[in-house]
Amino acid sequence: MNDTRTLRERYEDVRARIARAAEKSGRRASDVMLVAVTKHASIEDIRELVSLGHTDLGENRVQQMVQRAAIIEEFSARRRDRGGSASPVRWHMIGSLQRNKVKQAIEVTRLIHSVDSLRLAEELQDIAEERGSAPGGEKYGPVDVLIEVNVAGERSKHGCAPAAARHLVDMLDTMVALRPRGLMCMAPNTGSIADARKTFTRCKELFDEIRAIGSGGERFDILSMGMSGDYEVAIECGSNLVRVGSAIFGEPKVTDEDGGDED
Ligand SMILES: *Cc1c(COP(=O)(O)O)cnc(C)c1O
Repeated sequence: MNDTRTLRERYEDVRARIARAAEKSGRRASDVMLVAVTKHASIEDIRELVSLGHTDLGENRVQQMVQRAAIIEEFSARRRDRGGSASPVRWHMIGSLQRNKVKQAIEVTRLIHSVDSLRLAEELQDIAEERGSAPGGEKYGPVDVLIEVNVAGERSKHGCAPAAARHLVDMLDTMVALRPRGLMCMAPNTGSIADARKTFTRCKELFDEIRAIGSGGERFDILSMGMSGDYEVAIECGSNLVRVGSAIFGEPKVTDEDGGDED
């Protein structure tokens, strides 16, 4: 399919679809956060999106996120110098996180979507605590994280088992430098909307169960699910954060491994 629409048109279309899906489930567009996934986007396209006022961006590799955060921050600073308005961009780490990249990751991220083991949580806690107790560290609040759940049980996917999620939330809740904010999941690779709906519904149930028990507390309120092919379904199933790449930036020209920081 040859998509000749401009970036702005695609972005506005996604925003309109989010609003419609939110209304369908009795919510407002502002109840659903849109994270624009920039992993295959050019710097020019990211700048353009930021110029349109978009603030939340997602990457699945720490290295690329750190580099792009610096470039985009410089761009926003220049806009502010010229009297323009440019809200600070907030970066989301959505790919699997390797323990040796934790330090770099927490420097730039607003939310880490991919905590799926106690070991990774402990590494995050140690590094965030170290940062907080260093000179000038008082300014850092706890690091917001989501638990990634492998709801469909696919062997190729990251994420903890659904049955382990609650325990992981409880453990995270005891770590002073971290704050569990919710769950993240992905639909199975089958491409079937029915499968996606089943997965999202199951994840929403798990999310509600954890909230009902009180694990994670009041601020355990983010349910990150939905990508370009299934974000409307995800919202209908209760998602309040969608991660959308190709529907905004177009299909990637080169396909590569999307698994995150495997290097
Ligand atoms: C790439 C990616 C997305 C966005 O995928 P699109 O299909 O391009 O919207 C969302 N979430 C994660 C974890 C990803 O790796």
